Amino acid sequence: MTDWTALIRDIPDFPQPGILFKDITPLLADHAAFTQVVDDLAAGLTFDKVVGIEARGFILAAPVAYQSGAGFVPIRKKGKLPAETLAASYALEYGSATIEVHADAFDAGDRVLIVDDVLATGGTAEAAVELVRRAGAHVVAASFLMELSFLSGRDRLSGLDVRALVAV
Ligand code: 5GP
Repeated sequence: MTDWTALIRDIPDFPQPGILFKDITPLLADHAAFTQVVDDLAAGLTFDKVVGIEARGFILAAPVAYQSGAGFVPIRKKGKLPAETLAASYALEYGSATIEVHADAFDAGDRVLIVDDVLATGGTAEAAVELVRRAGAHVVAASFLMELSFLSGRDRLSGLDVRALVAV
């Protein structure tokens, strides 16, 4: 068992002053660590599709889907998906963001695991949950590599099975 937590590094003032950004690229570059977290993100869960949230969520969700025998569904920033979409907007510190999913991405009643790298304020994940539900599927759990507990993102996902491999 690798201690991969040391492979997430803090980058001060990125992407803007005052933010301490958790950079997961050293972890991704380490095969043992990467495969360990992919295994752990899905441990004990049963699902039909894995949703990855653009962009770092894709890197984690696609191997989870491959390894689990599930399908992969991207949730992307507005304007990137080519077919008919459903959209959900959420507030950022300054302004708002919109994410989208293809309207036909799921079969009715699909069991869905949502995967992303970091749970911060929870706005992105909350919008992703809303999209999956509106598209007719059932969210089994949301799994994150890291949870920034001081931002209380988990509170916005009440009633959901929310997992984080490490919390800071
Ligand atoms: P939230 O909507 O929970 O505030 O922010 C979560 C989203 O922003 C995730 O998609 C995540 O990739 C990104 N994010 C926010 N803070 C960090 C961070 O410190 N490190 C990384 N890698 N991603 C972050």
